[in-house]
Amino acid sequence: MTMKGISVSKGVAIGKAYRLDATKFCIIKYHILEADVEKEVARFHQAIEKTKLQMFEIKKSAEKVADKYAVILDTYSLLLDDDILINDTIENIRKHKTNAEWSLSETLNNFLKLFDNINDNYLKGKKDDLDLLVQTILKNLVGHAQETMSDIHEPVIIATHSLSPSDTIMMPKNFVKGLITETGGKTSHVGIFAAALGIPAITGVKEVTSKINSGDQIIVDGIDGEVIISPSSKTIQQYKNKQANYRKYEESLLSNINQQAESLDGYQVNLLANIESNHEIKNLHKFGAEGVGLYRTEFLYLAAASLPREKDLYENFKQVVQEMGKQPVVIRTLDIGMDKQLDDGKTNEEDNPALGLRGIRLSLAKPQLLADQLKAILKASLHGNVKILYPMISSTTEIIKANKILEQVKDELYIEKISFNEKIEVGAMIETPAAAICIDHIINEVDYISIGTNDLIQYLLAVDRVNDNVAHLYQPFHPSVLRSLKNIMHSAEKTGKKVSICGELGGDPMATMLLLGLGKIDALSMEPHSIPKVKKIIRTIRIQEAQKLADDVLKMSCPNEISTFIINEMRARFPEDFDRSLSFEKKINPTSS
Ligand code: PEP
Ligand code: MG
Repeated sequence: MTMKGISVSKGVAIGKAYRLDATKFCIIKYHILEADVEKEVARFHQAIEKTKLQMFEIKKSAEKVADKYAVILDTYSLLLDDDILINDTIENIRKHKTNAEWSLSETLNNFLKLFDNINDNYLKGKKDDLDLLVQTILKNLVGHAQETMSDIHEPVIIATHSLSPSDTIMMPKNFVKGLITETGGKTSHVGIFAAALGIPAITGVKEVTSKINSGDQIIVDGIDGEVIISPSSKTIQQYKNKQANYRKYEESLLSNINQQAESLDGYQVNLLANIESNHEIKNLHKFGAEGVGLYRTEFLYLAAASLPREKDLYENFKQVVQEMGKQPVVIRTLDIGMDKQLDDGKTNEEDNPALGLRGIRLSLAKPQLLADQLKAILKASLHGNVKILYPMISSTTEIIKANKILEQVKDELYIEKISFNEKIEVGAMIETPAAAICIDHIINEVDYISIGTNDLIQYLLAVDRVNDNVAHLYQPFHPSVLRSLKNIMHSAEKTGKKVSICGELGGDPMATMLLLGLGKIDALSMEPHSIPKVKKIIRTIRIQEAQKLADDVLKMSCPNEISTFIINEMRARFPEDFDRSLSFEKKINPTSS
């Protein structure tokens, strides 16, 4: 039997299943006497304190394994101090005189509803994490022992409904060869952790635990996002070959890290990394990144208990900039539409957050927020090659207003006698149809542009990038997307200003040749692990051939026809990289951040 899920860590694992019983608690509601209310509140506090202690211990272990994972655990610890989670639960206990377990799960349900309004895949992914944290508190409330997995003494593939952070970190890593969960998306902590350890993992395999028993032979195909239960010996052999091929393939890709991304006819592209936290910098050189093309600063706000001060921002930026030496670091100003810290714990309720106060709009509505960020960026600019990037630009007015704030901040720094790079470059993200259409105006106001294809596709096609119901309509190869890209690149080329692409499409090797054929691209910025493969494609093609491919595709009207054409073309040109039997390529579907 084959089941489908979301591949979150590549590779193939073959072995015995270990079904972890991580079923959720059945929470019973009961009322408590008025006289016992404060005792119940105290019991809740005790469970929180115990959970904090566990989190602290877990974080210490996590730091030894994967830095990025440890940062995520910081967010968990902060949630334990969160007013909404704690105070609302206590209020529920006091007001409704209900037991702590019920009161907490009521708070959680309300909290989770807030996530539905967030138009950010990354934050949406946190929904499961929050749920898991509450499960840990509940375990402590009911006195349920933490899962230890201590009876695992041989290599296994874990199949479970969900994995809490404590389960994940306490896993006997030497024995865990693969991971399958029923919940979780692309950005869930399980994926980040598994990828850091190189364990093949698949999330979102619905009802997998009802199909698998401990001891069953299974295969986790983290390349194609498939679980094969009780495979035949012939299938096992096929997957052993796939496993060996993938390992060899990965090694071979990394051999190009010191080479230039240059086409056979001498066209050079800088390959840069998209990062979300400072902890990722260490890995960038491993994949041959030539700089940071997009630093999503949202994480700094997300991981902080209160709004980060300019000083904290500066320390973070400085660290990245110094680590990158002379290489460029593009710091994007805050691109978040809804953040409880910005609204003193109150949700900024918008019926349509994707079209609401996000990106530069929020920054202009809260100028001090932008000023603090810009000051920190300017100060960090003294330590290396820093550029500023404004998100969600839809008119020149926004750039002019933001630049006015930038000038004010520069004046402050002059007065304070603090040096900075006075010629710091300022760029705009091109991710709204308005910016794409008026690119000739926009480009006059900035030093460079960076195309955010994740949002550009969403807004061009009117398809919510995080809505599963319309995922099939999110088509990066839609003619309107390709025409827009071509138009943007050509307008930019006329001005001689630099163009980069920092959306997922820019890091999709299947799209590399087509993108290069559409127009002049100076840099592609992507998840660092995609760099070697994209580089391999660039090093094997001629720009003329890429232009011919783009010309052919631009004559087609149907998005599916274009996808099929591109897939076939790339498979024919790069059998090793896109061969169906190996199927290493990313699926052509929305993989927004
Ligand atoms: C984009 O929209 O393509 C982009 C890179 O920004 P984000 O995914 O952070 O919205
Ligand atoms: Mg965007």
